[in-house]
Formats: sequence, structure tokens, C-alpha cells
Amino acid sequence: MWGAPAPATLSPTDRPLVDPFGRTISYLRVSVTDRCDFRCVYCMSEDMAFLPKRDLLTLEELDRICTAFVRQGVRKLRITGGEPLVRRDIMTLFRSLSRHLETEALDELTVTTNGSQLSRYAADLAACGVKRVNVSLDTLDDATFRSITRWGDLTKVLTGLDAAQRAGLKVKINTVALKGVNEDEIESLLTWAHGRGMDLTLIEVMPLGEIDAHRVDQYLPLSVVRARLSQRFTLSENAYRTGGPARYVTVAETGGTLGFITPLTHNFCESCNRVRLTCTGQLFMCLGQEDAADLRAPLRQSEDDALLSSAIEAAIARKPKGHDFVIDRRHTTPALTRHMSVTGG
Ligand code: SAM
Ligand code: SF4
Repeated sequence: MWGAPAPATLSPTDRPLVDPFGRTISYLRVSVTDRCDFRCVYCMSEDMAFLPKRDLLTLEELDRICTAFVRQGVRKLRITGGEPLVRRDIMTLFRSLSRHLETEALDELTVTTNGSQLSRYAADLAACGVKRVNVSLDTLDDATFRSITRWGDLTKVLTGLDAAQRAGLKVKINTVALKGVNEDEIESLLTWAHGRGMDLTLIEVMPLGEIDAHRVDQYLPLSVVRARLSQRFTLSENAYRTGGPARYVTVAETGGTLGFITPLTHNFCESCNRVRLTCTGQLFMCLGQEDAADLRAPLRQSEDDALLSSAIEAAIARKPKGHDFVIDRRHTTPALTRHMSVTGG
């Protein structure tokens, strides 16, 4: 379908990406669509307006940008969304990007998904060199699942998880901790996930985008969850790092790993090694700031990647020191108007 895709060999003008605070950028997250087959209450409003399809970069253009980043030292790519596995022909992009795994220019190609399409795609993902997938799942209860995702089907996700494990993919479960919704279920999610050989990472709700509820009603600090879990389980700090923002503990009783992503109670910006590309070619240097660099114009201006590479370098030179999310009663509007489904989780 495509012309010969470019290899990720370094040209003399390509330099590693280091930001003004000395952080090397080695991780790119790519949101391939803002659309989704779910409408999770903390992520989207029920009547979301999505981008017109004509505004999206083509899969070939997404490949070109990813390849430019790989040439400039990115070692890990995460495909996300919206729901990445609902984008048409998405396996074409995975197949194409897998060439960078073969040449070892890339260490890891991975995906964050709601799991609804995993039955269909797990084997294909594994064939493309994907080794690990993050699956978002906030509850094991049918009714709670429907009330959180509005449109989701738990059985479909659980079947998808089975398919992923059968295909040999290592699965990590991501769970957003929601006050009064799944807070009593976190213990059972932990034993369930670890019992199936899957790690679990808990996430604090972040104030991104207008939704139909007030954030303070959803926000459950993970410091509270951790204190509760510590009464039942022995949690010991572990040095495991995935290049993401989570901090990990080992749970002695299950032998599994539990992660905490705590942008509100613990700011993780000092070790930030990542940037985020949207499906329209906007590069966000920080999930928690409005500033973005347009990569679509330099991409389309020339078939050569020189303009694109310098636009990437200029963007990294603007990466801010950190975010400043706040959730409390005084802040009734989101810190950012952008939804998580735009920049990808
Ligand atoms: N649709 C895929 C999924 O759900 O895994 C990928 C995109 S989703 C935006 C990525 C992650 O962001 C999910 O784990 C989701 O739970 C999380 N997320 C979405 N909105 C969030 C918010 N406002 N605060 C914290 N996490 C959020
Ligand atoms: Fe869709 Fe993921 Fe957002 Fe849920 S969290 S609405 S699955 S993009």
C-alpha cells in the first residue's frame, strides 16, 4: 500500500533530543485517533464532538513522524488514542513500525487499549513484535463497567484479555481510582490481576477536558488507596521502571507488581522522558500544559524530513519543566480544555 518506508538511520544532522532541563526524550506516545467505542465518564462527555476524518494524519504520515523521532533517539513508541484499535487499518501502522524493532533502532513498540478489539487483533500485534499491552479496566462488575464506560461490554474486554495472554502478550491492567465507584473493588482487582500474571497500575483522575461530572467527585488520592492496601498487603518499594511515570511496589502476598501514577499527590515531572503526538500532528511536550508544536506543516511541506526534524528539535527546546494540575472545589473548570483522548494516556 505504501512506498518504501524510510529506515531510521541517523543522518549527520540528526541529534539526540535533550530538553532545556537536561532530560533526554526517548519515549513517544502517539494518539492515532480521538475516537473511541467507549465514553468513560472521567475521559469523555457522552456527546463528544470528534475531529473530522479529513483532519487526521494518514497512517503513512504517522509512520514518517514516528520514524523521524526514532532517528533522533526515541527508543519506545506507544500507540494510543482515543481507542487506537478502532482506527481503520491500524495494523498497517504496527506492521510498518515493526521494522524499527527488527533493526533494533527501537526497543519497544506497545499499545494502550480499552481491550474491546483485542480478540480480533492480539495475534496480529504479537506478530508485529509487540510484547506488552496496557489494558484499561476499572472494574470487574458488569453494571459498574457499564456505568463507567457508558457504552462498553465487559465480556468483550475479558475475552480480549484472554486472547492477548494466549498470543503471549504481557498484559498490564490500568485502573483509574474513582471515589465511591470502584474504590471498594481495588483489592479484588489486585488479586485478580496478579492471579492471572498481570501487573496492575492505579491512576489518579487528571483534570483534562470538560466532562459531565465534577472532578472533585471522582478524585480519589492514591495515597489513601495505598494506605488502605497496606493494611491487607505487604507493599515494598521496587526499582522497576518502564520509562513511564509510575512508581512501583511488589506485593509480597501475590508476588505481583503494583504501580501508582500520582500526578496530583506526587509530581513526576523531573524524570519525564516523553512527548505526545496527536492524530493531527500536534506535538505536546507536556500532558499538563497547553503548548503544542505543529508537525503537520513541516511534514507536508517537503518529502524530505529535514524540516520535520528541525521542527521536532525546536519543539523539544520548549519542553516545560512540569505541569500544574490542581483538583479542588475552587477549580471548577478543567485545568486543560483538551480531553485525555486527544493527547492519549
Ligand atoms: N482508549 C484507550 C484506553 O482506555 O486504554 C487508550 C486511551 S485512554 C485516554 C488512556 C488511559 O487514560 C486509560 O487508562 C484511561 O483510563 C486514562 N484516562 C482517561 N482520562 C483520564 C483522566 N481524566 N484522568 C486519568 N486517567 C485518564
Ligand atoms: Fe475511550 Fe480510553 Fe477514554 Fe475510555 S479512557 S473513553 S476507552 S479513550
